[in-house]
Amino acid sequence: MSVTRDQIDRAERHSAHNYHPLPVVVREAEGAWVTDVEGRRYLDCLAGYSSLNFGHGNETILGAAEDQLRRVTLTSRAFYHDRFAEFCEGLAALCGKDMVLPMNTGAEAVETAIKVARKWGYDVKGVRPGQANIVVMEDNFHGRTTTIVSFSTDPDARDGFGPATPGFRIVKYGSAEAIREAIDADTVAVLLEPIQGEAGVLVPPSGFLRQVRDICTENNVLMVADEIQSGLGRTGETFACDHEGVVPDMYVLGKALGGGVVPVSAVVADADVLGVIKPGQHGSTFGGNPLACAVGHSVVELLRTGEYQARARELGEVLHERLRALIGPVNGADGGDGGGHGVVAVRGRGLWAGVDIDPSLGTGRQVCEALLRHGVLAKDTHGSTIRLAPPLVVTAEDVHWAVDRLIDALAELSG
Ligand SMILES: *Cc1c(COP(=O)(O)O)cnc(C)c1O
Repeated sequence: MSVTRDQIDRAERHSAHNYHPLPVVVREAEGAWVTDVEGRRYLDCLAGYSSLNFGHGNETILGAAEDQLRRVTLTSRAFYHDRFAEFCEGLAALCGKDMVLPMNTGAEAVETAIKVARKWGYDVKGVRPGQANIVVMEDNFHGRTTTIVSFSTDPDARDGFGPATPGFRIVKYGSAEAIREAIDADTVAVLLEPIQGEAGVLVPPSGFLRQVRDICTENNVLMVADEIQSGLGRTGETFACDHEGVVPDMYVLGKALGGGVVPVSAVVADADVLGVIKPGQHGSTFGGNPLACAVGHSVVELLRTGEYQARARELGEVLHERLRALIGPVNGADGGDGGGHGVVAVRGRGLWAGVDIDPSLGTGRQVCEALLRHGVLAKDTHGSTIRLAPPLVVTAEDVHWAVDRLIDALAELSG
């Protein structure tokens, strides 16, 4: 039996089936490339759902982690430690805000943002006790906790996990009018992804984020941007909101903040918002630990140079131009003169693309399986959509190579 088969069989026998992984067993990785247990190499075009923006084994991040590992890794927030101030100060400055509330996973940061918004609503806005509501978007993805799945519109994520947490109003993503109509005197926040990642890398209509900002300001409602996947360089700016010059009241960050090494998440806001949380009202044993802060601080330092944002911008143009050229029916298929490769639509910003494949060629899953055979790791979302989000350290050559492999995979599927 192959090493791969053995590993997969044992994993399936002894782990819960809450994922359906592609049949590859990774052993090591460097930069944008991973190697499996058989010695085969793959270009990582998922990058841990954008947790690995700075690449596998980034020397700066690893150096910060290694130094800290030998010094002190955990204190709990019962005490201060000497990596805490610089991390919070640096991340707040990167966001142009006053304060940081550190947590670990993305879902915890979203939960934190919900609690902060509700508390702000009662203490500052004067919302009726127990009546706070938050406006959220259709097809959102904010994590997997019971409260967060309560306002998911994905039946797989939501059904069977009730009773749902009340206090959320779901509106159509991209519709400023729908948001305006959903807001009432008890609305404390509008929570949204500036680009919806899991939904298929959906970029909202131009001007939408600006409209949301204006509506929130006019109605004394907090604009909460979940930039867990879209933030920290991925789209070619530090935050996806930057593309419209929009500053939300709260940034929710995670994924790449941990440099691909440890889970680090945070809510970042001004003191008039985050200041509503008092001792004992919220916390986390691991949140803001020394190792997390050392790693998170190194990530902030990498972003301060603007180098990664520029790479995402420049290589993103290469990626999107190449992908757009694949749009159209496959050569010769359906009697069409083609010129295309079976791609129906391409969306995204920077080094982040959602690619809709002609469903007659196969499901997104089948495309990803074909890509795997050709040496590219990617992940499908819904139906026949795949997403591409390589680490921002990829080279232009890598990007061209990945698109060439997608052409091979689509050719294989079209028989
Ligand atoms: C991944 C993700 C989350 C959840 O993060 P976890 O670390 O998996 O809990 C929340 N929001 C968005 C936009 C995400 O992409």
